[in-house]
Amino acid sequence: MHVLVTGGAGFIGSHVVDTLIQRGHTVTVLDDLSTGKRQNVHPQARLIIGDVCQTDWQAPLTEQDNPPEAVIHLAAQVDVQTSLRDPGRDAQVNIIGTLQMLEFCRRQGIQRLVLASSAAVYGEPQRLPIDEEHPVAPMNFYGISKHTPEHYLAVYRQLHGIEGIALRFANVFGPRQDATGEGGVVAIFADHLRRHQAPVIFGDGEQTRDFVFVGDVAAAVIQAMEAPASQLRHHIYNVSTGVPLTVNQLYQTMQDIQGSKLPVNYGPARPGDIQHSYLDSTRIYNDLDWRPRITLADGLALTLAAS
Ligand code: NAD
Repeated sequence: MHVLVTGGAGFIGSHVVDTLIQRGHTVTVLDDLSTGKRQNVHPQARLIIGDVCQTDWQAPLTEQDNPPEAVIHLAAQVDVQTSLRDPGRDAQVNIIGTLQMLEFCRRQGIQRLVLASSAAVYGEPQRLPIDEEHPVAPMNFYGISKHTPEHYLAVYRQLHGIEGIALRFANVFGPRQDATGEGGVVAIFADHLRRHQAPVIFGDGEQTRDFVFVGDVAAAVIQAMEAPASQLRHHIYNVSTGVPLTVNQLYQTMQDIQGSKLPVNYGPARPGDIQHSYLDSTRIYNDLDWRPRITLADGLALTLAAS
């Protein structure tokens, strides 16, 4: 298949592209390189530098002999703090950008779009683990701009028959994650450990998160893209390990792998941070037979080994 991957120069997108190419797909990446990097893009993928909110990238893509047959839409404004500072820009990229991609699918007769959503849509958990039926109550603008496109997907499905599938990722980690990015605590710890510097842990470190390896996330994205419609009994899936890990445990595990014994610096808890969060991924296991294959220790070792 020819697959258009938006955000394919980014952290998760570049792993999705690598796996697509391994599986024999033809890939075009659409990315404005705002946080993504040209060197992340697989040499066999075509890179179009463009903005998902615009349409100027469409003609060169659709006028070729082999136009895209599926879209994986990962391009987004991904930073919660940026969403709080500039909610308009956040909404523009995440909501209008997704709408543009759905319109592109409608005009081109593309049947399948896989969208990166987020655990941020749930807000403060009312029960754990969080399954897909858990109430949605975003606590920041990023959570809103990740949730709103899920509604667009539902209406485009009803009106135009586009099979839009939203995958709500937990905390994704792995090689190529930006240490300055949002939610990239593994990347931040890895960066510090490589430089033999103790990182700061906000709060007491007993907050839990659900850390899922990027290779497993890429596999989930591609399974959602390739699955026959009959297998997709739902249109929203969590992508997670379902295993809570405290930030202290994470740091200790990474120190053990790295063989370092650095002290821990604790700083004040960050306002608005959720204390405990982990997601139930039974639904995607039942429908797509997806489950995480990489152990936490192996995923962390791969991350620490990457430059
Ligand atoms: P990333 O910043 O590495 O990737 C985003 C990519 O989108 C970058 O390459 C960036 O240059 C590109 N981009 C941004 N705005 C664009 C625009 N207007 N037009 C074209 N390209 C644009 O971040 P990531 O962590 O790889 O995130 C990928 C997706 O997964 C995002 O949709 C994000 O919301 C979602 N997500 C990530 C996590 C996580 O833990 N990393 C968790 C939940 C959801």
